[in-house]
Amino acid sequence: MSASFEALGLSPEILRAVAESGYTTPTPIQAQAIPVVLAGRDVMGGAQTGTGKTAGFGLPILHRLQPQANASPSPARHPVRALILAPTRELAIQVEESIKEYGKYTGLRSTCVFGGIDIKTQLPIVRAGVEILVATPGRLLDHVEQKSVSLSQVEIFVLDEADRMLDMGFIPDIKRILALLPKERQSLLFSATFSEEIKKLADSMLRNPQLIEVARRNQVTDTVTH
Ligand code: AMP
Repeated sequence: MSASFEALGLSPEILRAVAESGYTTPTPIQAQAIPVVLAGRDVMGGAQTGTGKTAGFGLPILHRLQPQANASPSPARHPVRALILAPTRELAIQVEESIKEYGKYTGLRSTCVFGGIDIKTQLPIVRAGVEILVATPGRLLDHVEQKSVSLSQVEIFVLDEADRMLDMGFIPDIKRILALLPKERQSLLFSATFSEEIKKLADSMLRNPQLIEVARRNQVTDTVTH
């Protein structure tokens, strides 16, 4: 049913890491999202955690950025090109660990910034330059204010778990961040639910998005009436 990871056209370096992760077949969200993201299109994705959505956006982002990987010691050669926003520290860490794993042979750099710990501990890594930054919204804005992070070269923006962002009151922060991003960019929004508010947010940040929805894992049991 699903195409193989090879058939999706991912680079040999990414395929090698995917194989080492033990993945043999793309999950439904991966089979649908990977070609669309590779093609450079915006995505409105309906998927919850546990569906494999991190690789669904992470693998094609790594593939698109891989040609720009380099070993230069100059921070200027490692601008943030992909920004992934997550609502919580736990999710941000988990997403960045996955990106590191899938990207370990690409030469791309990634890191994760979140609140609740001294910002000073995060400064050396972000100042050295990373192509892929995973962040919680408030702490990202702290870094922007301190000028340790610039968002002027972001090519791909991901808003993960948008419905939880909304619930946690992050919309003003997200609007501030959107205003700092280049207009010319690829944007992906993932959410487990699509309320009117999420649709409004999607309208404000996506251009001609491809809608991708996968069934909730427990959909069958959810609809069983006892
Ligand atoms: P996620 O929804 O991205 O948090 O992923 C849920 C879990 O599924 C993670 O533990 C992944 O390592 C795992 N996973 C993701 N994609 C695949 C795949 N194609 N085959 C097997 N496991 C996967």
